[in-house]
Amino acid sequence: MTTDPILSRLATLRASDLPVRGGRTMAYVYDSGLDGLEELANAAHAAFAGVNGLDMTAFPSVVELENDLVRRATALLGGGAGTFTSGGTESCLLAVLTARQHARRTRGVTDPELVLADTAHAAFHKAAELFGLRVVSVPVDPATFKVRPADLAAAITDRTALVVVSAPSYAHGVIDPVPEAAAEAARRGVLCHVDACIGGWYLGHLRAAVQGGGFTQDAPEIPEFDLSVPGVTSLSVDLHKYAYTAKGASLLLFRDAELRRHGWFAHSSWPGYPVVNSTLQGTKPAGPLAAAWAVTEHIGAEGYAALSTRVHRAVRDLAEGIERIDGLRLLARPEASLLAVAADDDAEGAEVDVFVVADEIRGSGWYLQPQPVFGASPANLHLTVTAAVADEETVGLLLAELEKAVGRARAAGPVRVDPAIVEAAAALDPDALTPEEVEVALALAGVGADGRLPERMAPVLAVLQALPPKLGERLLPEVIGRLYQP
Ligand SMILES: *Cc1c(COP(=O)(O)O)cnc(C)c1O
Repeated sequence: MTTDPILSRLATLRASDLPVRGGRTMAYVYDSGLDGLEELANAAHAAFAGVNGLDMTAFPSVVELENDLVRRATALLGGGAGTFTSGGTESCLLAVLTARQHARRTRGVTDPELVLADTAHAAFHKAAELFGLRVVSVPVDPATFKVRPADLAAAITDRTALVVVSAPSYAHGVIDPVPEAAAEAARRGVLCHVDACIGGWYLGHLRAAVQGGGFTQDAPEIPEFDLSVPGVTSLSVDLHKYAYTAKGASLLLFRDAELRRHGWFAHSSWPGYPVVNSTLQGTKPAGPLAAAWAVTEHIGAEGYAALSTRVHRAVRDLAEGIERIDGLRLLARPEASLLAVAADDDAEGAEVDVFVVADEIRGSGWYLQPQPVFGASPANLHLTVTAAVADEETVGLLLAELEKAVGRARAAGPVRVDPAIVEAAAALDPDALTPEEVEVALALAGVGADGRLPERMAPVLAVLQALPPKLGERLLPEVIGRLYQP
């Protein structure tokens, strides 16, 4: 095939995706709104696409680029060492792996535990599963969605390898009490990780904006959250989020290189080349590293401070506007750049189903991310606010569309799940489902045998959140597995 039809086929495929620029996709993608940034990232990416970061002696450029990025990040967020990774999940995985090895080697812990707030990102559960740690999940305060330090302290044992808190949590956008949590961990001689994957770059630069006199009034108060806090031993911060760089870029920072070394893998007991891996990857694409370097050099500390300030103001305006919409409420007061919007049960008029709101507003070109009920957290919609949304016109448009979508959702009424389905599901053993039972369960959830998902997701989400979590986790890969059948 010649070049043109190949590229046009790719363009056709991309046309069915959500837009990655313009700010209307309020999860997964981050748009600075700056002209030329994507082109710069693409050019840097392309220039390094063939470079293999696996061997830093063969490609010394990758060391320079990584050191520059880590230096920039530690200047912002404290810490004495760092590693560039492929994304937030890999940073979280490596934080847990490092802590497990550290606990094993320095404290003789053979059956390690991972203590986390139950709002911690799914990546930590993945890490525990991969690296053989038992998760000790501490429920957060149901009013604030923040973990209580005393509850964390009570969960720490001699087997605890790592305590994890978030700044902020993805689901609610609130910042756990980092100084108190880190102090409890330190008191017991345990490591403490701050997951600032989504918030670190934003909050660090917002703090710099405040300190630099960028606010004459209404300056936000930013709680302490980074590696300058005593007891915090590692911190993850994604560059492919609020550093607005190409996907595949995150940093894992450590208090020092002595701790970092515990997560590295070295191997010379095979007939091939001597191996030292600082991440989970072998062959390591250098494109995302070069793109991140180029984008951060271009925007710079002052540029990021300005972007954070814009986002902060947009979050404030959106929060005020959402509180004024009858039928909606904020689950928590936003402390970073994320909003969680639930139905307001005290509102006048008919019940509002937020998943129906999500379907409705998607028809108007906005993507808000549904978050099913979990513990004290009701069904809600997640909004990641990036600089591209941060102008008065766009904020006003979003609020207007949201209000209209609520009106249409009220008229449509909430999705009800047949109690008979819930009852039948509760009787199923997720580990012993036959293929036939899986078919029946998926058909009940509205997923066809061809794997095609329905246009409207509210009915599927309603069933999913009504199922016991273990059953949901058994069925989700079946749903997605049906999509991947060439
Ligand atoms: C995004 C995120 C992660 C995971 O990062 P990916 O880049 O999606 O792998 C972890 N923790 C938090 C709080 C996040 O927002």
